[in-house]
Amino acid sequence: LVRSGMRVVQTIGVPTGPLNVPVDAVVVALKSRTIPAAEAVAQSLQALRWLQAQGAEQIYFKYCSTFDSTPEGNIGPVTEALMDALGTDFTIATPAFPDNGRTGFKGFLFAGSVLLNESGMQNHPLTPMTDPNLVRVMQAQTRRPVGLIDHSVVARGPEAIGARIQALRAEGVGVAIVDATSNDDLLRLGPALKGMPLVTAGSGVAIGLPANWGLAPSSTASALPRAQGLRAIVSGSCSLATNRQVAHFQAQGGAALALDPLALTGDTEMLVAQVMAWAQPLLRQGPVLVYSTAEPEAVKAIQARLGVAQAGALVEHALAAVARAFAQAGVQQLVVAGGETSGACVQALGVTQLQIGPQIDPGVPWCHAQGAAGPLHLALKSGNFGTDDFFSKAFT
Ligand code: ADP
Repeated sequence: LVRSGMRVVQTIGVPTGPLNVPVDAVVVALKSRTIPAAEAVAQSLQALRWLQAQGAEQIYFKYCSTFDSTPEGNIGPVTEALMDALGTDFTIATPAFPDNGRTGFKGFLFAGSVLLNESGMQNHPLTPMTDPNLVRVMQAQTRRPVGLIDHSVVARGPEAIGARIQALRAEGVGVAIVDATSNDDLLRLGPALKGMPLVTAGSGVAIGLPANWGLAPSSTASALPRAQGLRAIVSGSCSLATNRQVAHFQAQGGAALALDPLALTGDTEMLVAQVMAWAQPLLRQGPVLVYSTAEPEAVKAIQARLGVAQAGALVEHALAAVARAFAQAGVQQLVVAGGETSGACVQALGVTQLQIGPQIDPGVPWCHAQGAAGPLHLALKSGNFGTDDFFSKAFT
């Protein structure tokens, strides 16, 4: 949205009061990917009501570009609840994000040059993705019939897409997966979504929407206050990309400390004291990294010992406490790797609203926020995003 000219703020959770800044779009961040479906639905409906009260004209349910979900949801149940609440019988679903190598062809999702289920996502700690066919994946979570707007239609442009939407509606299809292999596809899709009450997608589809409001790319949309203060990275993502980024940071001589989930007792005070004793003298010299990032085999072994959810929660809680301690120690530029990990960290940092700035790599912008410990620049990097040198690039 920012790249295409919108001024955007992101709120962490549903705000309790009205929005007090001038923006073109507001993003309500929920940590709803892996919670029980009924809770994800309730939170999403609460967000919808708040957005409607702020005058939002179009609702965008954004999920991961690797369609992270389980057969229980939460993409399908939330989509249907939003459709019901908005009184609409049709929406699209496309996680395609070509700038990040996420492309859709004949309903199959690719990550890079391989199918989703060969991309490493089949080993995700919480949402293993073992079927690359999104029509099947979505249908398993949805009561409404799921259809497809394939690449041959998208290639013919907005009118052809619009005609296909009408045909699918007439057949009773409620949700259509849309193929896209390039930003050009997404820009062709954009005009066809004008006036659609609900869009569901990864972040890629957003690139084609601001033009529907007469907006064009501009550098003022992404301007942030100047960065200052100490620098740190907290990483709880176990994705292939994050494993490479952690290795790259260490290979370049970066100061890094691994957290062993099996050694975590839940005593965060002790953990924070240990981490800060290590980090304090290093922070003045450059960015430091604290990570639980591990290879799939190690993650599986830990999950077998602790349980999947328990391992995740224990590690998230520990890393969030570290992030808070960093901020209290003067860190004002913080990179967090991992989607769930980011959710836990922003909560612990007392961040409720982020202004979205320029992108570091596709899908990962610097943001500016007021945390409990003061102003903070934050980069929240989901699992597989970013080049191998992402951590140093972010600070450069
Ligand atoms: P991503 O964006 O890569 O999906 P997330 O932070 O969303 O990353 O999810 C990773 C999950 O794995 C989190 O719940 C995190 O606490 C958990 N986790 C991190 N490190 C380990 C580890 N070494 N063993 C088991 N679970 C881990």
